[in-house]
Amino acid sequence: MTAKELETFRSLLKLLRGRLRGDVEQLQEEAFSGSEAGNEHRSSNHLAELGSDAWDLEFSLQLVESDQSVLEEIAHALEKIDSGTFGLCETCVENGRSSTKAKIAKARLQAIPYARNCIDCERLKEDGR
Ligand SMILES: [Zn+2]
Repeated sequence: MTAKELETFRSLLKLLRGRLRGDVEQLQEEAFSGSEAGNEHRSSNHLAELGSDAWDLEFSLQLVESDQSVLEEIAHALEKIDSGTFGLCETCVENGRSSTKAKIAKARLQAIPYARNCIDCERLKEDGR
């Protein structure tokens, strides 16, 4: 992965984090102030400019699962960018595969920029549950 691509993922992750935090704040505001119509989603337009529809859909599904755990995954992914291991499957690395073989497919990262595992390892993990 090039430095430029890494920076793109970094901005994407930060944008995601901002949106999640914004959404969390907004939910809290709504809880305290009752139902107020006309609240605008601050960052959704930026996301539409940046990402594909597929990415947005995938992200919306993740959102339903748990905002907090996604925020943690995003923080982890940002750390991986800093440490130079972003884009590598953690399970593959643990299993001693070389960094060329442990790469997470770019399409997967575009769908889930905070993915920890390649699709093969993720499938194995899900089967093992
Ligand atoms: Zn893997």
